[in-house]
Amino acid sequence: MSLVRADLAAVPAYVAGRTVPGAAKLASNEVTDPPLPSVVAAVAAAAATGNRYPDPAATALVTALAQRVGVDPERVAVGCGSVALCQQVVQVACSAGDEVVFAWQSFEAYPIVVRVAGAVPVPVPGGPDGEHDLDAMLAAVGPRTRVVFVCNPNNPTGTAVARERLHAFLDAVPEDVLVVLDEAYVEYVRGDRVVDGVALALAHPNLVLLRTFSKAYGLAGIRVGWSLSSPEVASALRKVSVPFAVSSLAQAAALACLEAADELLARTDAVVAARARLRDGLRELGHDVPATQTNFVWLPLGPDAVAFAEHCAAHGTIVRAFAGDGVRISVGTPAQDEALLAAARTFRP
Ligand SMILES: *Cc1c(COP(=O)(O)O)cnc(C)c1O
Repeated sequence: MSLVRADLAAVPAYVAGRTVPGAAKLASNEVTDPPLPSVVAAVAAAAATGNRYPDPAATALVTALAQRVGVDPERVAVGCGSVALCQQVVQVACSAGDEVVFAWQSFEAYPIVVRVAGAVPVPVPGGPDGEHDLDAMLAAVGPRTRVVFVCNPNNPTGTAVARERLHAFLDAVPEDVLVVLDEAYVEYVRGDRVVDGVALALAHPNLVLLRTFSKAYGLAGIRVGWSLSSPEVASALRKVSVPFAVSSLAQAAALACLEAADELLARTDAVVAARARLRDGLRELGHDVPATQTNFVWLPLGPDAVAFAEHCAAHGTIVRAFAGDGVRISVGTPAQDEALLAAARTFRP
């Protein structure tokens, strides 16, 4: 007899990027700089009242976020990272047996949160460049579909969909299906692939926009993300949250990051330049690397993915292998990126 649900055995565990002492970790799409001194000071100050529960409504943070993007605070919900909000969206929308559509390869957490909720994952293969095939995703929406995840730009392929195609997709999805626009990497998007997620969320009552402080804002270890949706959906997201999911330290850190937003967002330009160097370097070695709008590059190595990651690890760099598919490499410091390219140069499949 088992004490846990039988169907959990079939649910894969989330695989995090490995941390190896002495090795460069280019496996988790983290930024390389530690939080600003002002952010560390805000966390330390919050720690001094750590005997008290946090503000459960995260009022100051929600107000600051709503003001920043120009929306009513009722539309904003915060979570323990935006991955928690992915789980909450499925919880508010799905009963057992309902379907959730997403592209594949995409964010590994999607099939996990879907199956944990007792819902059914409907993965839709991406196009040749790892881009979402929005037409095929639309075609996969059926009578039991409650949620569609659009990861834009996509993790792990780095690609972003064309704006017009996203708009047409949102116009075509039935109004009673929630569309999650997961913009974890939005701060790294440049050029004609920039979309106005906030305007889209205001225009489409069935859209849930997800953002995170983990990537460009550099708070991956502190855990805070947020959503923008209709007030009705936001209130449901709050209802299913674990109480006090965003700690007072996380609330203080996020607020301090918003105070320093200009400085933190300016840093994304260096990442954008570095990702181009990384992509060019890998393409010079004959690799096929899709155009990336994120802080990582995708190497579609197929059966050589694991061997490549092991070769890099032996040369002091940890990258993230997706067995049989490819390798995701986060932008690091210039020296770390150079070391990665040097290792890639000596890789023989
Ligand atoms: C990193 C990431 C997130 C958010 O992660 P949190 O640390 O939980 O905020 C969400 N979606 C995608 C696609 C990501 O890569």
